[in-house]
Amino acid sequence: MSRLALPGFVNAHSHAFQRALRGRAAGADFWAWRDGMLAEAKRQTPELVRAAYADTYREMRAAGFTAVGEFHYLGVPEARAAASAAAEAGIAFVLLHVAYARGGIDRFRQASAGDYLGEVELLRAEGIRVGLAPHSVRACPADWLSEIGRYAAAESLPVHVHADEQPREIEECLAEHGCRPIELLARAGCLSERTTVVHGTHADGAELDLLASHGSIVCACPTTEADLGDGFLPAVRLLHRNVALCIGSDSNIRIDPFEELRELEGIARRQSGTRGVIASEDLLAIGSAVGARALGLESWPSIEIDLEHRSLAGVAPEHVRAALVAGCGADVVAT
Ligand SMILES: [Zn+2]
Repeated sequence: MSRLALPGFVNAHSHAFQRALRGRAAGADFWAWRDGMLAEAKRQTPELVRAAYADTYREMRAAGFTAVGEFHYLGVPEARAAASAAAEAGIAFVLLHVAYARGGIDRFRQASAGDYLGEVELLRAEGIRVGLAPHSVRACPADWLSEIGRYAAAESLPVHVHADEQPREIEECLAEHGCRPIELLARAGCLSERTTVVHGTHADGAELDLLASHGSIVCACPTTEADLGDGFLPAVRLLHRNVALCIGSDSNIRIDPFEELRELEGIARRQSGTRGVIASEDLLAIGSAVGARALGLESWPSIEIDLEHRSLAGVAPEHVRAALVAGCGADVVAT
């Protein structure tokens, strides 16, 4: 069988438990969907996480993702269960352990930033690879962000944070802090080349400039952002500023790196009215090496593409990489 080796795809943003929500009627907008999501979060146990995450991670592995950053806000025992599930499924795992001060549901929250960092130290001491994840400026006040930013700098750890996914989050941030979410992250010392901002959908020009000047990464999750009605990634404006992009399957309504990458390029084409905005090789790097950088991974497993797959029939060897991102799904990954 003829095969093509590629670096494995890296899923830089996953909430594995949300896979259970696909296909469920879940409200008229993001906030109504969130109510259904919180109900699903509430019922999770270490046993459920261990079993369901292993299934979801096996699907990711089969789809060509060989590493995952799990953005985790379900508690410490469930964090350990997620790590075990990843080991069982054979996917490299980074626990993006979430800090949550306010809002959400009881189980998400720590009493203080110090308590949160205590959880991080405990999980690190157990050998779990951990990144810091202040959930959002909705969930973390400025003093938490500052303390987390300092710890991340001292320990050289990745920082992942949701920002600018929904207009309401920006309005609330302006009312509370007099600035927009990414501006607040910059003020609090949370932006650096180790920082990944998830979504950035409604970021304005000044916020995008801050991402560029700090060398931060944006994680795009186009299939989830479409499903939730978030809006379009400002792809062309990010590319114009040379802000690095990576991808995440986020709510896991779809698990297909090719589809995420194709959406990314599709958004850029619609915004620019041109074709070939992101070169195929660059798209493949967005799906792999940039995600690995976002997670602080130096190495991660490679994959093989089945060149005899029907989606690649008749494609000349020199066009295979472009055809992968233009017209293939995850079933081209050889198992
Ligand atoms: Zn998310």
